[in-house]
Amino acid sequence: MARYAYVNGRYVDHRLAKVHVEDRGYQLADGVYEVVGVRDGKLIDETPHLDRLDRSLKELRIAAPVSRKTLTFVIRELMRRNRLRDGLIYMQVTRGVARRDHAFPTIPVKPALVLTTKNTKPVGIDVGPGIAIKSQRDIRWERCDIKTVALLPNVLAKQAARESGAYEAWLVDSAGCVTEGASTNAWIVTRDGELVTRQTDNGILAGITRGTLKSIADTLQLKLVERPFSLTEAKQAREAFITSATSFVTPVVKIDGEPVGDGKPGPTARRLREEYVRFADTGEAVA
Ligand code: PMP
Repeated sequence: MARYAYVNGRYVDHRLAKVHVEDRGYQLADGVYEVVGVRDGKLIDETPHLDRLDRSLKELRIAAPVSRKTLTFVIRELMRRNRLRDGLIYMQVTRGVARRDHAFPTIPVKPALVLTTKNTKPVGIDVGPGIAIKSQRDIRWERCDIKTVALLPNVLAKQAARESGAYEAWLVDSAGCVTEGASTNAWIVTRDGELVTRQTDNGILAGITRGTLKSIADTLQLKLVERPFSLTEAKQAREAFITSATSFVTPVVKIDGEPVGDGKPGPTARRLREEYVRFADTGEAVA
């Protein structure tokens, strides 16, 4: 367990870290968050993550709690105090503490900032056995591009997946297309060898790992198409995989109990995982 959390300007014992009961994040999910992966003591894609945090705040008209300079300092100080080498940094900003009312507070309140860290084993270059997916209806709102702490549909989808023995849920919209995972972006490699992931708009979160992988795919001269793909197409794909700051590139070998391709991690996912790990290690997209 991490030793310290950062709460509104103070580094406090993680076990005793608290926020106010009238915090709008707690009562109304009126807040946003970011997760940045840490590998061998280095942050992965820090700038795009902090840019996305700024964007989420702007979309919800929440002021930045501290400057970028301060935030980057706090991140490093918390990493140092928690001796974080491999794992993640979690950052959360809520609109702040105010008497409960759905509308924004009419008197100025300070946004609340919390940071925690989590130590994990370093993600290996080997993809492992791959994961199983369960499809679930996408019942989320129309602003999935904002990384808000309002995650109940994602929580329920993930739980349904776990109860069925799958690791991740793929969310399916009213047209039968996969939008993304409960906490990851979704990709397939079609029978024609096209790498496909859904275009970014209000329907999905623009994953930072997704963005970096796009440049890696480009450098590797893979044919990448950003378009919707149906659950049926995914089940008939040659390969499928997920991406996120913590799972990097992880192959999908089963969807709703049916094997994807030959039911084993495929060469594209393996190669992209390798290159992403290299990027996380060196900061460079392809050696
Ligand atoms: N989609 C959703 C819904 C997520 O919660 C996440 C994880 N933050 C992602 C995609 C992947 O984004 P990233 O690559 O920035 O971790």
